[in-house]
Amino acid sequence: MTGRADDRPGGGRGDFIRDVVAADVAAARAAGRAAEVATRFPPEPNGHLHIGHAKSICLNFGVAREFGGRCRLRLDDTNPEKEDRAYADAIERDVRWLGFAPDGPRAFASDNFAVLYDFARHLVARGLAYVDDQSADEIRANRGTLTEPGIDSPCRGRTPAENGALFKRMRAGEFPAGARVLRARIDMASGNINLRDPVLYRILHAPHARTGDEWPIYPTYDFAHGQCDALEGVTHSLCTLEFEDHRPLYDWLAGHFRDYRRSLPGAADAPPPVPRQYEFARLELTHTVLSKRRLAALVESGAVEGWDDPRMPTLAGLRRRGFPPEAIREFCARVGVGKRVGAVEIEALEHCVREALDRSAPRRMAVLRPLKVVIENYPEGRVERLEAANHPRDPGMGTRDVPFGRELYVERDDFAMDPPRKFRRLAPGREVRLRYAYFVTCREAVVDAAGEVVELRCAYDPQTRGGAAPDGRRVRGALHWVSRAHAVDARARLTGRLFAEPAPGPDSRPDPQSLETVEAKLEPVLAEAAPNAPLQFERLGYFVRDSGAAADGAPVFNRTLTLRDSWAKIRGANAGA
Ligand code: ATP
Ligand code: MG
Repeated sequence: MTGRADDRPGGGRGDFIRDVVAADVAAARAAGRAAEVATRFPPEPNGHLHIGHAKSICLNFGVAREFGGRCRLRLDDTNPEKEDRAYADAIERDVRWLGFAPDGPRAFASDNFAVLYDFARHLVARGLAYVDDQSADEIRANRGTLTEPGIDSPCRGRTPAENGALFKRMRAGEFPAGARVLRARIDMASGNINLRDPVLYRILHAPHARTGDEWPIYPTYDFAHGQCDALEGVTHSLCTLEFEDHRPLYDWLAGHFRDYRRSLPGAADAPPPVPRQYEFARLELTHTVLSKRRLAALVESGAVEGWDDPRMPTLAGLRRRGFPPEAIREFCARVGVGKRVGAVEIEALEHCVREALDRSAPRRMAVLRPLKVVIENYPEGRVERLEAANHPRDPGMGTRDVPFGRELYVERDDFAMDPPRKFRRLAPGREVRLRYAYFVTCREAVVDAAGEVVELRCAYDPQTRGGAAPDGRRVRGALHWVSRAHAVDARARLTGRLFAEPAPGPDSRPDPQSLETVEAKLEPVLAEAAPNAPLQFERLGYFVRDSGAAADGAPVFNRTLTLRDSWAKIRGANAGA
């Protein structure tokens, strides 16, 4: 991760793409031209966005924002078989949740199907594209390898007139799916396989979410993408490194597309600007997978509860888990934008989340594995309302009253019959402090027939209200607790990392322990907790209320993260390496 030293206005930090944009802006100004910057975020509406997409969103919208430009959301809907309107809506919702407002209405590649078709006819008419009758397998087999040139298709010699007629019939729906394709005629011996007559159109008789049955042919990604960029006036087309080898094709098409647009009746004299493609390394994260295909497989196989399962790296999952959007943006900024591929430790993301939540999350008390405590010398029926700060360092966050009574719950793990060394919690004869309340001493542990501790009998010191003893004696532990009479019953989902392995392979299964649900007892104000509002359960972690409830109506809280931050250690180890 890069440092924070070179912060720029707008939150962007230096990287090679911002350097390119800055240089282009400076050059345009020097030449007296308008210094326009336009980017786009172009997801395919075939799944939900994940945190890898967040990197691209932060980059595209961030660059536009920093340079006074604009950034559109464009749905790349060229694969009707895999796409769905609901995904497009979810994508826009996620972009906005992350904190970015697209400029202009949502764009779709399908908005441009008519222009793309016309451009394809332009290429055909100039001998720059031909209809190929080979099957997809034959085309693949004849494409050659890195060391051998491709083999010309028998159809490569068709005349523009023949191709024009065939392409027209493809468009009219006269051929079955897969029977023919339109290919660019570039160079079957090119060292770049992407230039060996790439496919521009394929036949697909599939209804499209927006264009219905209008088109029996669909443009490929390569054909649609750059031309949509050009039509939208995109100046910097930012994509991930796997498209680096497609750039010569992007440029080939962009040049011919400019010629095509200039050939149109009424075209302006000044040539429309040609967009340029720049590639950056995609985000990879340990303990998860960032591929829509693999995430979809997890959803379809039932290995997770859905795209918004709180263990999923989708923006919907992270939101449900309580990751604040500002923490995701900060993480993307710290990861930075470069060409170096490699997985970022998930601890770095978790660190950003903890940093944001430590500031913003009000503190609350909740007991996840309750053990009953009876304070024998506390009067029956008495209830005190004890004032508790909502944040230890931010008095502006105020206080709330927490009821205290004779019967409480504490955490089962906060008691040990035979305490190991350095155990700073309850044990027979030990005195501890109950936060915001009193010192209590354990007198007796009640054990059931199975030998399990079911109740602690304790005594409190009425002199220690608020947590200090007049005689100055100190106790070693400070425990959280909940009044038994006032406790709200809830479920806590102890969300963990999706995969136990840092680098999950194709056969890895989600960690079965990553979604444990426990019965929890909460302090009363938590009954009113709003979904999506971050909370810290003292000593346990950050939690957020789920928008759904348990089958019995009990509120459900998802654990965002535990309080333990292991990033400092990892960073230390990396720095030393
Ligand atoms: P996936 O491999 O998850 O299916 P994709 O690249 O096919 O992702 P698109 O919907 O095409 O998904 O992605 C939209 C944009 O987001 C593209 O510009 C793509 O380069 C970018 N993007 C996708 N995944 C990542 C990632 N892990 N890191 C950075 N950018 C990404
Ligand atoms: Mg893609």
